[in-house]
Amino acid sequence: MVTQSFRGSWKRITKNPAWDENVRRFTSFDFRVSAFGSARVYNFDFQVSIFGHLALLALILTACIGSLWAVEPIGRNRDALATAGETPALPDAGSNVYVVLWFDTEDYILPQSDDAAKRITEILAREGVRATFKVVGEKGRTLERRGRRDVIEALSGNEIGYHANTHSQHPTVAEYESKLDWEEGAAEFTRRERPGFEDLRRIFGKAPTCYGQPGSSWAPQVFPALKSWGVKVYLDDAPHVGLDGKPFWYGGLLNIFNIKAGSDLRPNEDWSNLDEAKANFKATYDELSRAGGVVSLYFHPCEFIHREFWDGVNFAKGANPPRDEWKLPPMKTPEEIERDFNYLEGLVHYIKPFPNVRFITASEALGVMPDRAQGRSFSEIELGEIAGQVSSEVSFQMHQDYALSASEQFALLNEYVARMARKQQREPLRLGATPYGPGLDAPALADSLNVSWSQFSRTAVDVAGFLEKNNQIPNVVWLGSKPVPPGSYLVALARTTQSFVKTHTLPDYVTLPPAHLAAARYVADDSPRLWEWLIFPEGFDAPQLMVLAKLQAWTLKPALLAQGR
Ligand SMILES: [Zn+2]
Repeated sequence: MVTQSFRGSWKRITKNPAWDENVRRFTSFDFRVSAFGSARVYNFDFQVSIFGHLALLALILTACIGSLWAVEPIGRNRDALATAGETPALPDAGSNVYVVLWFDTEDYILPQSDDAAKRITEILAREGVRATFKVVGEKGRTLERRGRRDVIEALSGNEIGYHANTHSQHPTVAEYESKLDWEEGAAEFTRRERPGFEDLRRIFGKAPTCYGQPGSSWAPQVFPALKSWGVKVYLDDAPHVGLDGKPFWYGGLLNIFNIKAGSDLRPNEDWSNLDEAKANFKATYDELSRAGGVVSLYFHPCEFIHREFWDGVNFAKGANPPRDEWKLPPMKTPEEIERDFNYLEGLVHYIKPFPNVRFITASEALGVMPDRAQGRSFSEIELGEIAGQVSSEVSFQMHQDYALSASEQFALLNEYVARMARKQQREPLRLGATPYGPGLDAPALADSLNVSWSQFSRTAVDVAGFLEKNNQIPNVVWLGSKPVPPGSYLVALARTTQSFVKTHTLPDYVTLPPAHLAAARYVADDSPRLWEWLIFPEGFDAPQLMVLAKLQAWTLKPALLAQGR
């Protein structure tokens, strides 16, 4: 960014509406020139009237170009920012109903499943619809071994996602993650699962765009690993995290997960409910088309042809037989198979003509729900508004066209206070990649704690260093010798910011009140229903995973549909 030519920068500014918005914000902020009158009282007022209009215009141009180059992103992941301004072209959203249609392509045992996947691509081609096929690494390798270039090519015409390396062979993802902490879990997921991801890249000639867990083998440590591989979307369904049945950001990824709309479109046991599914879609459409929304609909190619899942007959209840003992699952009759494909074709054919219905893939969802907070620059006035919304019930915030996770509020307000402490000129703050939640739990603060501004300001500078190095919220914040949970510290940052924005006077003391991470209520409490997948060993439970998952509620916020222009 910094080394970009003037011309290059200007092209990007003029081409992209998001930059127009940034320019507007820069111009409204940069003229609040800070003059450090005394150690404690700063004056932000600026007399515009002494300039003629032309001089003002020249200054605005200079100031905003300078700002574009000068603003330093907060947080470690600056690479992400290099493209953050390049928001994908805005679709004509308005009240569009987006249908994410995805197929978990996982059965590497029954050869007829290969043909089932191919037949689905033919149905989609007839309907003019592109879907997302989340392929298991071993499935991709099996297609290659069986010489099914035809299937590989047919799938390549759609979007390829990733569905774990071996899916149901033990230990599955949640099984091995259940015994690991945050960092070890991320590293182990990469060690075990990255090879299958790379195989798919080689076999299909493009990197998978999304990931979803096998069965309900969900774990929070996979998010930083996926992000480091370049995966930006988590596409699946399970009850572990959910935000009112709508898409959300969590763990730094766009989650199309635990979506309410579309859950009643799936076939029943004998696929006899096509008319009911159509009626359900009509009702969903009527509800969503008022303000726009996202429908998530999934199938497995193998379920069109088998009587029982390929993994159920081999890996149920923790069983882990060697390859030469794998059994073929029983198949349906030819009539039943026709009925099943007709269900899919009938449903897609019914949905397609609705006005403003758009079938989208996982990567297209990123364009439909861009994260407008990432890479955005925040003025002092906006930071004051953000601070005003922070309460002891720490959670995400909604603003006009963007949402902020608790960890993003923490990063912005800490940087603001750290700059107060450093007596730095107040340029707009640019938000970098969403910081992760803490990797360890910390006890809540029982009573309010008062500390001097001197101590609080030194802590803010220290925390800025921690965020810079780790891109993560610390599990405790040290006020000298006193450890404080990050939620309480965030509330104190917010109060300090609010007061400073109004008065430009530094406080003598700062109070850190008890607080709790209210956003954690969107993450399920550990219970047997989370781990009901038939493949898990009997009695499998993973309470520690849900403790880590709740800590990552720091990263949670709604995914907002881009509004049409
Ligand atoms: Zn699966």
